[in-house]
Amino acid sequence: MQSPRHILKSVFGYDDFRHHQAEIIDALIKGQDVLTLMPTGGGKSICYQIPALLRCGTGIVISPLIALMQDQVDAMRQLGVRAAFLNSTRLPGEQRAIEQDLLAGELDLLYMAPERLLNSHMLDLLDRSQLALFAIDEAHCVSQWGHDFRKEYQQLSMLHERYPKVPRIALTATADQRTRDEIITQLALQKARVFINSFDRPNIHYAIAESGNSRDALWSFLTQNHAGDAGIVYCLSRKGVDAIAQWLNDKGRVALPYHAGLTQDERQRNQQRFLREDGLIIVATIAFGMGIDKPDVRFVAHMNLPKNIEAYYQETGRAGRDGLPANAWMSYGLKDVINLRLFTENSDAEEQFKRVMHQKTDAMLGLCELTGCRRQALLAYFDEALEQPCGNCDNCVSPPETWDATIATQKALSCVYRTGERFGAQYLIHVLTGKEDERIQRNGHDQLSTWNIGSEHSGAEWRGIFRQLIAHAYLATDAEGYGVLKLTSKAWGLLKRSEPPQPVMLRKLRKPSKEKAKKKKSGAAGQQDLSVQDQSLFEALRALRSQLAREQNVPPYVIFPDRTLVEMAIVRPVTLAQMLDISGIGEVKRARYGEIFLAGICQFGSSS
Ligand code: ADP
Ligand code: ZN
Repeated sequence: MQSPRHILKSVFGYDDFRHHQAEIIDALIKGQDVLTLMPTGGGKSICYQIPALLRCGTGIVISPLIALMQDQVDAMRQLGVRAAFLNSTRLPGEQRAIEQDLLAGELDLLYMAPERLLNSHMLDLLDRSQLALFAIDEAHCVSQWGHDFRKEYQQLSMLHERYPKVPRIALTATADQRTRDEIITQLALQKARVFINSFDRPNIHYAIAESGNSRDALWSFLTQNHAGDAGIVYCLSRKGVDAIAQWLNDKGRVALPYHAGLTQDERQRNQQRFLREDGLIIVATIAFGMGIDKPDVRFVAHMNLPKNIEAYYQETGRAGRDGLPANAWMSYGLKDVINLRLFTENSDAEEQFKRVMHQKTDAMLGLCELTGCRRQALLAYFDEALEQPCGNCDNCVSPPETWDATIATQKALSCVYRTGERFGAQYLIHVLTGKEDERIQRNGHDQLSTWNIGSEHSGAEWRGIFRQLIAHAYLATDAEGYGVLKLTSKAWGLLKRSEPPQPVMLRKLRKPSKEKAKKKKSGAAGQQDLSVQDQSLFEALRALRSQLAREQNVPPYVIFPDRTLVEMAIVRPVTLAQMLDISGIGEVKRARYGEIFLAGICQFGSSS
């Protein structure tokens, strides 16, 4: 038998295993069950693909993501692996052929949805086939409490009874303890070996920018960092999605909308284009994303605050699955903070549920207003300690300045009090800055002691102050939904004393020009610092890859990931033997594409 490491090199073209891959593969080969928790992009698939190649029989991969099966199988075929999938899109003839291959032992991997596996015809076929293993992907779908719940997943425990000798591996990127326990009980994995990885995504740079105009901020983020890159822009509403997509197109980027208001067909088409074309932006509501396997998403931008940190982490996690530098960028302002607070207030959930929601909102706002390392805070939220600040988030790269805002806070809070807790932030700011305003005069608020006592700060600065006072729970929004601000008990504590026990420290407004997500030449494809020459060779190789992908009707990354093209552009191999040294090129891919890419490199060398 070949060794797993040999397969890793000869088939996948990689030199070393990552994380616990080697141990997991070893356990499965020995016939043990495994549960593995690995972050997105951690390299889960290889954990069952290599054992399926090494053990006799076919590896059965169970996944709820029917739309992705084609791409997963294409990727395997490109490596020379005998893979197939069964789902409702297959014609009866195709289906029969695949079933024959299964019975004849001519498949290494067979992908299917759980409902397919559970039907009696399929079980009958499996009874008569030799099985290498069962891989249960997206295993968190067994969890009743999660948002991806699939009831068929709960029936998968029967695999253990029906095929006691076939090892099973359950895989997920969902971290929390409760889900983990549920997977173990529901799938009868009590005896499984459990491998848990750090959930850190070190290649993702996190930045959360407060901004008055989020469109301008998005545009400078894109032009500075991602001139030609693929990425996802999340908006809260369908209307927002359509408007931003249109606006990006007007600006000269190719952007496609994705939300529940589009037909199934349009959604499918836009998703497909996103997967298959380079440099496309998808503008989406959160309906987009589950199981987006595209490895070269270079950025995820949030135009609004996500509802909680779980959602933020999951959505940003779609960036940089290939391990190359990627950006998670968010723009938020006073309105977002008010909206998120209102959303929690207005939900008609039960008290206890509401309390949890409040905590989650607090945590999300806390992350935004944080002055320390974002990654440390994110990981801490998931009970993981990171010893040192990460050096790869906005706060680490340029630490925010804070200032003693005690007096400004007292002015703001007393203005809320004197106007009777009946107004929103904009009105209060007008009173504080002494703005001529008919409504203020009508209410006689130009006679108040707080009238024009805050002119030392600009309107934008006051917005920042109010945003932070809401985020830090000095001010609460009323439940009626008009954005009226009221004092909290925390605020009263501050108002009653002339000398507060601790100064109120707030973040200073960042200058927009400092909002660089990551130092990088424009036009770079999120790669490590490529020289100008290497960058243009990379672009040339990317064009070659696109052309090959179109000819075969597969996504470009199925041919080679960006990482492989980057290495080619730097190393510039001249022989087929040297091609094998490039990460991501195994024997089959070398045989298929070696010559073409050597020619591409050679041609570039002679033309430049
Ligand atoms: P996940 O399913 O955990 O999100 P994948 O299995 O899709 O991640 O792997 C992410 C990327 O990492 C893929 O391009 C894969 O080929 C690559 N990869 C996996 N294992 C290794 C390894 N040991 N060395 C280099 N690249 C790897
Ligand atoms: Zn950091």
